[in-house]
Amino acid sequence: MLEALKKEVCEQNHELPANGLVVGSGGNVSGRDPETGLVVIKPSGVKFKKLTPQTMVVVDMDGTVIEGQMKPSVDTGLHLYIYAARPDVFGIAHTHSPYASSFAARGERIPAVLTPITHMLGRDVPCSRYATPGEVDTGQAVVEAADGGYAALVKAHGVFTMGKSAAEATSFAMYLEEAAMTTHLAMTRGPVDELPQEEIDRCFNWFRQNYGQSGQKKVTA
Ligand SMILES: [Zn+2]
Repeated sequence: MLEALKKEVCEQNHELPANGLVVGSGGNVSGRDPETGLVVIKPSGVKFKKLTPQTMVVVDMDGTVIEGQMKPSVDTGLHLYIYAARPDVFGIAHTHSPYASSFAARGERIPAVLTPITHMLGRDVPCSRYATPGEVDTGQAVVEAADGGYAALVKAHGVFTMGKSAAEATSFAMYLEEAAMTTHLAMTRGPVDELPQEEIDRCFNWFRQNYGQSGQKKVTA
């Protein structure tokens, strides 16, 4: 069942180590099927190299395993909490990527100082309160801190990104880590100006209208 979604979620899990966002078996990506509402997630404690579409676990919104030979990720409950709270979200990525997590270690948000990431997220990256790892409490902290947005750091833990698909959530996780690294490097050399919200809004809307193959074809000089 859900063969296409299992393939997508598996591929997006492979993107995490391929982009240096995780080590060992830490981190995970899930995706929600819009028709059935079932969620496909990585199995617990399995190295990324060993993941295939067949090893993905299908769960319902109560966490009951519907298909799969292995136990789902220990973070399944918090992914399900986020999906329940955010009907607009169909993919979630979680990493401990180093630069972004260094902001989380200090309980600091990542300020909106670079247009490439604000194009995507439309705001800074907030940092939540401390929450118990692996528990629904972490899902609550993500939903509170994200406040309708698509990314949040969890204090003393790591990064959660959300999207309209597993691929979009994973893409946000990659660009967020790049922005965290560049922002950190810039901040070591002195104060950095945060973009005004008005300009962030303009970039965000421009990106949605123009980026990729679905945007408007008209190019202005
Ligand atoms: Zn984690």
